[in-house]
Amino acid sequence: MRKLFSSFYVRLSVLFLILLLFMGAIYITISVRSSIAFVEEADQKMNANLAGSVALEIAPFVQDSILTSNIQSLLHYLMVINPHIEIYLLDSSGSILAYFADQAKKVRRGSVSLQPIVEFIRSGPTASVKGDDPRDLNRQKPFSVSPIRLKNNMPGYVYVILGGEQYDLASDAIKEQFLSSTIARGLVIALVFTGLLGLVFFFLMTKRLRTVTDVVTGFKNGNFDKRLTDDAQDDFGRLSLAFNQMADTIALNIEELKHSDNLRRELVANVSHDLRTPLASIQGYLETIVMKRDSISTDEIQRYTNISLQNARYLNQLVDELFELSKLNAIHKKPAKEPFSISELIQDVILKFRSQAEAKKVELTCRHEQGIPLVTANIGMIERVLSNLLDNAIRYAPENARVSLELIPGDDFVRVKVSDSGPGITDEDVPHIFLPYYRGNRSSSRQNQGTGLGLAITKRILELHDSNIHVASELDKGTTFYFDLARA
Ligand code: ADP
Repeated sequence: MRKLFSSFYVRLSVLFLILLLFMGAIYITISVRSSIAFVEEADQKMNANLAGSVALEIAPFVQDSILTSNIQSLLHYLMVINPHIEIYLLDSSGSILAYFADQAKKVRRGSVSLQPIVEFIRSGPTASVKGDDPRDLNRQKPFSVSPIRLKNNMPGYVYVILGGEQYDLASDAIKEQFLSSTIARGLVIALVFTGLLGLVFFFLMTKRLRTVTDVVTGFKNGNFDKRLTDDAQDDFGRLSLAFNQMADTIALNIEELKHSDNLRRELVANVSHDLRTPLASIQGYLETIVMKRDSISTDEIQRYTNISLQNARYLNQLVDELFELSKLNAIHKKPAKEPFSISELIQDVILKFRSQAEAKKVELTCRHEQGIPLVTANIGMIERVLSNLLDNAIRYAPENARVSLELIPGDDFVRVKVSDSGPGITDEDVPHIFLPYYRGNRSSSRQNQGTGLGLAITKRILELHDSNIHVASELDKGTTFYFDLARA
């Protein structure tokens, strides 16, 4: 039952039916009341002079003393003709001196209010006013009144209540008659018809609400693909549109969360794997030094310490690059950019790698024409990209190889090329080298203990600059990486 009433449609329908019944009841009450008022008013107008006639008739019997029995017999015929009237004799203050009506019925008031009497006399036969009913303390009824001279010429009134108790019976009959009349039947049919029509309309209107509820509930239960199809130009249409937009945003956020959760898992798995090897090596060498400190030579200790140091440096680099990559992946906003001279930047980077190149006897050159335009980018990030590419080129290059940096201005960009005459990259490796942790399969790659994160960082930085990195490589001939930067 409670569940039934929790439905918006049922609530709306019940409320509507109650309002209909209420309206019907008000209509019937107003109609019955106005019918009775009409009858009463007509009755009063028709009998406006009745009290005057009675006063004329009974005047001789009230001048010395009130001769009740004479009056009674005089009025008898009148009461027979018009049984619903009650005649009262009042003094000037409204007190009842005598009454002529069905004696079996009790008179409950000793006096009646003079105010309606005075008003009736003032307004004349057109008056429509009700006076106190002496037989009922709470009711007022239509009446007719006329002044009369009593004993010692004292003023008094003949007060005729129209309707009397008979009248009540008549008004009850009116009510009954009304309820069974065609108007009442018509009213009931109209109410039933309106009620049914209302129920059907409400059902159709709330059907859209039920659809919304179904889809929203489905969404809550994990059905993120469902959308509302209501595109009407009304409140429901707007609600549907707002819901669909909200659902799209939530679904996208969930997708992103899933994606970043996967990335995080992958990262944790890779990190633990990558950290384990150098850590195990450091631990192994240090344990050997500790356990065999009496039996091993100083040279061996030196060698073991150097290897451990190398591994520690590698660990340090790995952690730094991991941190850098995860920071770059978390960025969704574009980095702050500024115009700068790319030719000056490459000179700085070349200077930084000069000694590393010389140590490996690699020839490091820079080629570009005069007046290379400024580019707009994040200078720190682009320096990182150039360093990664140059570091790879020198690291993977054999002795006496050549590494060159080249700038080629385009219409709205400047192309940056880093080429080497190194070992090249195999066709199987090329599609994967920009993935985090991917290291080429060639022996040279393995020996050049890298973290496998450099190119992933490079790619991500260029993505944040709406640019892309490209590679062209030929085995045993060399590799060229290139990317474009927007001109300032
Ligand atoms: P790593 O730390 O291994 O250098 P990177 O992401 O920088 O990681 O590079 C991924 C792989 O791409 C390397 O392992 C290597 O096989 C290959 N690679 C990158 N640059 C060069 C290059 N200039 N010459 C040959 N191979 C390269």
